[in-house]
Amino acid sequence: MPVEIEQFMCRTDNFGVLVHDPKSGQTAIIDAPEEAPILAAIKRTGWTPTMILTTHHHMDHVEANLALKERFKLRIVGPEAEKAKIPGIDETVEEGSVLHLGDERIEVIATAGHVSYHLPESKVAFTADTLFALGCGRLFECKPPVMYESLKKLAALPAETTIYCGHEYTLANARFALSVDPTNSALKERAARIEALRVDNKPTLPTTIGEELSTNPFLRWHDPAIRKHLGMERAGDAEVFAEIRKRKDNF
Ligand code: FE
Repeated sequence: MPVEIEQFMCRTDNFGVLVHDPKSGQTAIIDAPEEAPILAAIKRTGWTPTMILTTHHHMDHVEANLALKERFKLRIVGPEAEKAKIPGIDETVEEGSVLHLGDERIEVIATAGHVSYHLPESKVAFTADTLFALGCGRLFECKPPVMYESLKKLAALPAETTIYCGHEYTLANARFALSVDPTNSALKERAARIEALRVDNKPTLPTTIGEELSTNPFLRWHDPAIRKHLGMERAGDAEVFAEIRKRKDNF
C-alpha cells in the first residue's frame, strides 16, 4: 500500500510535508520549517508523527525540530555531515543508508550537502533544496560539479517518481528556464500551467522526474537545443550545467 502524503505551506514559500504509512500508522515529517502549520496538518490528518526526516540544517528546514520533539517524543534523523547543526538530532544517515516507515523502505541519497529521501515502493522522493520544479538549489555550500553529480543521481530515478521539494519557486524558475530553453514546447506549455496555478495561489508541486527531465534545464545538460543556445555544443555535461547555474545566479 503506497504512503499517503499531506503537503502544505510554511513560512513564506517553504513546503511542509507529512508522510503516512497506512498499514503501520507511522508518520514522518519531512523537515520542520514552522511549528503551527505542521501542527495544523497533524490535526487535519489525524496522523501522529513518529519521526522527522531532516534534509539539511538551514533554519527554514529545522526551526520546529525541538518543539515537535518535545511535544511528540519523536526521533529526528538527518545527514551525518551536518549533525552538529541539526537541533535534536538522534540518528544520522548518509549515502546508501536505509530507514523504514512501517514496512516502507526509505533510501537515502546524498545530494550536495543535503540528503534526499527516496521511497522506491511508493515511487516518491523528497529532494528539499537540491532539485526544485524547473530549478535546482543555489550553490551555498558546494561547487557546481558536486551539485551536478547530485542531480545526476536524482535524474536516474524512475521517471514516474513523484518529487516533493522544499520551496515554491517554480514560477521564477519557469521564467529562467524559458530564457535558456526558449524553443522547448513542453516547457512553454508547463510554464503557462504554472502561471495559472500561481494566479490562483495554488502549489505547483509535487512534480515528477519525467516532467523535470523534459522541462528542467538543470537536468538537460545533454540537450542539443540548450547547448546551441549557450554556444556550448562541444562542452562537457558538467560545464553546461555550471554555465546554466551561473546564468540563473545572474538572472
Ligand atoms: Fe530552504
